[in-house]
Amino acid sequence: MLQIQSFTFNPFQENTYILFNEEKKAIIIDPGMLDAVEENSFFNFMAEQELEPILLLNTHTHLDHIFGNAAVLKKYTIPFAFHLLDRPVFDSAAAVSAMYHVPMQTSPEPSYYLESNGKIKLGADELSILFTPGHSPGSVSFYHEAQKILISGDVLFQMSIGRTDLPGGDFDTLANSIHTQLFSLPDDTKVYSGHGPMTTIGFEKMNNPFLRK
Ligand SMILES: [Zn+2]
Repeated sequence: MLQIQSFTFNPFQENTYILFNEEKKAIIIDPGMLDAVEENSFFNFMAEQELEPILLLNTHTHLDHIFGNAAVLKKYTIPFAFHLLDRPVFDSAAAVSAMYHVPMQTSPEPSYYLESNGKIKLGADELSILFTPGHSPGSVSFYHEAQKILISGDVLFQMSIGRTDLPGGDFDTLANSIHTQLFSLPDDTKVYSGHGPMTTIGFEKMNNPFLRK
């Protein structure tokens, strides 16, 4: 049984997720901690729950989703991965953080790159990697079929979608990703987004104003 802990961090109000199972093994997704207070709240949860992290993932590498990569990888010796097509976004993070006047610790290099349609194991649980570009060129979503849980990064939000005006973004690509990769999932799939509250696939199909056909 997979459990999800979420935090909202940094000036961009980014959602950081920890997925963990009864064996206490955990996958960290998009750690957005930017200061000591946020780092303490994150690492205290890990310690209190006695979680053993096994992997760090980024749904994509916009700076608000990777602020905490350095802190996580300083504390834990674990592999770290994102999709290769987000490499240009990853490489521009330092320049973008200077532009926003938000100083950040440089993220360490990935251990490997995620493959579209690949699988990630967390004990007996399995996540499917869905390739969902458009907000950024290498955006991926993570789907846990058994419990119908989707970690959607900045692809799909409650009543909204990811921006497509940033470098590498493209509206038609994003809309296609959502219609083909996400709206094919069961309506009662719970969607945990990179910003804002949880939603479901069925609710967004009916109500999302950006995705009406
Ligand atoms: Zn983003």
